[in-house]
Amino acid sequence: MIRHAIVAGGGIAGHAAAIALRKAGIDVTVLEQRHAEDGLGSFMRLNPNGLDALAALDVLDPVMNVSFPMTHVEAYGPDGTLLVNRPLSDPVPERGLGARFVTWTNLEQALRAEAVRRGASVRHAVRVTGATGADDGVAALLADGGRVDGDVLIGADGTRSVIRAAIDDEAPAPEYCGSRTVYGYTPKTPADVPPAPAQLRAYRGEGRLLAHIDDPVTGEQYWFTNLKTPDQLPEPGPSTDEWRDQLLALWPDADAPAAGIIAAASSIRAADDKALHHLPRWHADRLVVIGDAAHAAPPATEQGGAIALEDAAVLGQCLRDLELPLALARFEQLRRDRVEKIIGFATGRLTTTESPNWSYHHHIDWSRQIR
Ligand SMILES: Cc1cc2nc3c(=O)[nH]c(=O)nc-3n(C[C@H](O)[C@H](O)[C@H](O)COP(=O)(O)OP(=O)(O)OC[C@H]3O[C@@H](n4cnc5c(N)ncnc54)[C@H](O)[C@@H]3O)c2cc1C
Repeated sequence: MIRHAIVAGGGIAGHAAAIALRKAGIDVTVLEQRHAEDGLGSFMRLNPNGLDALAALDVLDPVMNVSFPMTHVEAYGPDGTLLVNRPLSDPVPERGLGARFVTWTNLEQALRAEAVRRGASVRHAVRVTGATGADDGVAALLADGGRVDGDVLIGADGTRSVIRAAIDDEAPAPEYCGSRTVYGYTPKTPADVPPAPAQLRAYRGEGRLLAHIDDPVTGEQYWFTNLKTPDQLPEPGPSTDEWRDQLLALWPDADAPAAGIIAAASSIRAADDKALHHLPRWHADRLVVIGDAAHAAPPATEQGGAIALEDAAVLGQCLRDLELPLALARFEQLRRDRVEKIIGFATGRLTTTESPNWSYHHHIDWSRQIR
């Protein structure tokens, strides 16, 4: 019987898993390497399937409070012609969830607050270095020499997962996709840029694209562009000013809306696009990986966060209803095909003329018994 679960990584998947485990009546300790006040600078569109997973965990309202709606995608050509105007509605109309924009930090903090409110213990500035078997249990090994014992150890520790390596020391790492996402924050919509509340608005040019969405209350802008390059980012990466110079060189017309947004940005960062399409082993003994640790999805899928939330809810159901090792095997069985299909389409391994709507239909009924 699972009494105490350890979660390595207090990000999107980790805190959502803590909520699911508490809902299943299991004690949980989350171990996160960041300090409590540190976040990641990225942001995301939560598609209907991700919102559905939050609803299954009764945590939709707290996330609604820190996010805003995205109702349309619009794209303009170099001469200002409207090329695309597509609604982002829920393909399951009676569910009516649509899509929401949220920053990584706001989502993580909302989930963490809910996990703690429901009784999870969350420890910060604690780095997990590995795992070891214990009498009738498992232990997370910590960088400070300590350990935390439990009945199951869930690796929600992202693309560089140490739990993935503890499960299989030959596990593949996420592969570089040959591009990077550069994303920025502009404190207020520049006067010459039409505001885009509730719309992801993209400006296209010769081999370039910049998309932005604006906070409907504050007018703050969140934007991104994608650059193809064979080289991965150095560490540390370019500064905001260096990125600004590089991007403005791609948008030399200072009157173009994209140039105005880039010029007024207060923060510009970048992440290499990486994908982990097929991880041979998701679990071993009392260890399991979820979220990016199991199946990193490049940002272009706009699904990595959503499928991490789905994982958390489904794993909670499996640990609620089944004993180990069956619970972990069943979790993999319920999840693998779906996430590999999403990542396969995004990375060109699979091709389709199907709209991405198929992936938005996913629904989790928390009360369903897992057998
Ligand atoms: C630029 C960008 C845009 C994106 N856009 C979207 C989008 O539009 N829609 C969408 O759904 N997804 C999007 N994603 C993907 C999404 O952010 C990820 O899929 C999601 O964050 C995965 O959640 P996770 O909890 O598995 O991993 P993470 O969010 O990376 O969290 C992992 C956590 O584990 C901690 N950790 C790591 N190692 C250790 C350790 N050894 N010990 C303790 N703690 C550890 C980390 O500090 C972190 O807090 C985007 C990603 C990027 C980079």
